[in-house]
Amino acid sequence: MTAAPQTLLKGGTLLTMVPEEGPMVADILFGPEGIVRIAQDIQPIENTNILNVSGAYVLPGFVQAHVHFCQTLFRGRAEQVPLLDWLEQFIWPMEAAHTADSLRVSARLSMAELLLGGTTAALDMGTVHHTQVLFEEAKAAGFRLITGKAMMDKGPNPMGGLLEQTEASLQMADDLAAQWHDAEGLVQYAYAPRFILSCTDELMRETAQLARARKALIHTHASENPGELDVVRERYGRGNIGALEDLGLVGPDVVLAHCVLPDVDETQILQQSQTGVAHCPSTNLKLASGVAPIPAYLSDGIRVGIGADGAPCNNRLDMFAEMRLAGLVQKPLLGAAALPAKRILELATVGGADLVGLGDRVGQLKTGFSADIQVIRPQGPHMWPGADPYTDLVYSAQSTDVDAVWVRGCQKVENGALMGWDMDALFENARTAISDLRERLVSS
Ligand SMILES: [Zn+2]
Repeated sequence: MTAAPQTLLKGGTLLTMVPEEGPMVADILFGPEGIVRIAQDIQPIENTNILNVSGAYVLPGFVQAHVHFCQTLFRGRAEQVPLLDWLEQFIWPMEAAHTADSLRVSARLSMAELLLGGTTAALDMGTVHHTQVLFEEAKAAGFRLITGKAMMDKGPNPMGGLLEQTEASLQMADDLAAQWHDAEGLVQYAYAPRFILSCTDELMRETAQLARARKALIHTHASENPGELDVVRERYGRGNIGALEDLGLVGPDVVLAHCVLPDVDETQILQQSQTGVAHCPSTNLKLASGVAPIPAYLSDGIRVGIGADGAPCNNRLDMFAEMRLAGLVQKPLLGAAALPAKRILELATVGGADLVGLGDRVGQLKTGFSADIQVIRPQGPHMWPGADPYTDLVYSAQSTDVDAVWVRGCQKVENGALMGWDMDALFENARTAISDLRERLVSS
């Protein structure tokens, strides 16, 4: 039996994202078993694919710390409204109208966009029904996905038809975790009570226990929007993060999307419990939520990653757009020196990997780590003449500059195109799937 081929990238500018290392021109040899070697002038052995990447940047694939694959099909279908209206009038009814087939198309469209933009791993908040489809599609695509069904057992209304019984929701989540959670594999389970206003206290508390028994992540939204926070304060007498602490939902195994509006004591909770924050700057602007205090979080030692959130509140799943915005939104508030580009690139790679529990295998280029790698070629005028690599990548680069991508040493993108995907068929399926879904909505 011949060994699976290795790949040798020669002469690129490596941004390893290992904390003590700066940019270096070097070769990198890797395969399905991981990164084998990083050094000057590596000589290839037999059965090695060799690519000359001189003049290009080589860096870890991005890790998006918060996305919604199920919503990608709804891109552009929920505009000009703040969070609670956005959810109740548009997103929940559309999620409820998903079939397994339409969710499948939404997942494929999500992964196509993510891979083409250099993202190789994501923490996703499934949806209430059919979430097994997301695991199937991630495995088929060879994409590193952590997801779990969204849990919703409380609401002022039937939430578009998504409202569940507490026990049934917990059981369905735990059954999916038993089937799909693979701590060493490409797909992992994350328990996903959607947000505090859509979940009973009982569901939140039991979810924490179930997740910890399986050593799985807990993924929810918190402290996103002023309107939402008014309701939380009225109901719990505390801010959102404080209320989650009371329910046992903080800790190093918890990822909270947003955290835009923390109270002073809540920053301390995040810091002391080592709870992760998924920063989604586009969404926070588009839904008129605000600007998360990311520089303050970082100086307090709080763990932060970056995610695009859902397509209808962004409307891209593009880490380059998120990185650029993460920097820009802080500057009018804190001065032009706030959140340097290198720090932002760290959040998009090593920070995100740590946040979603993959910090021991992805997010950095180092021997023994998984070969989740992207090559970015400065081709268009927007990347020239180039200066500091971190600045080039955060502020100048676009997702269309991603030339090649590997996940676990297996190439997914070559010359800026997905390998083995029929994109025309995908776009046609997406068009049909959203049109059929909207018809189901009208007739329901
Ligand atoms: Zn979200």
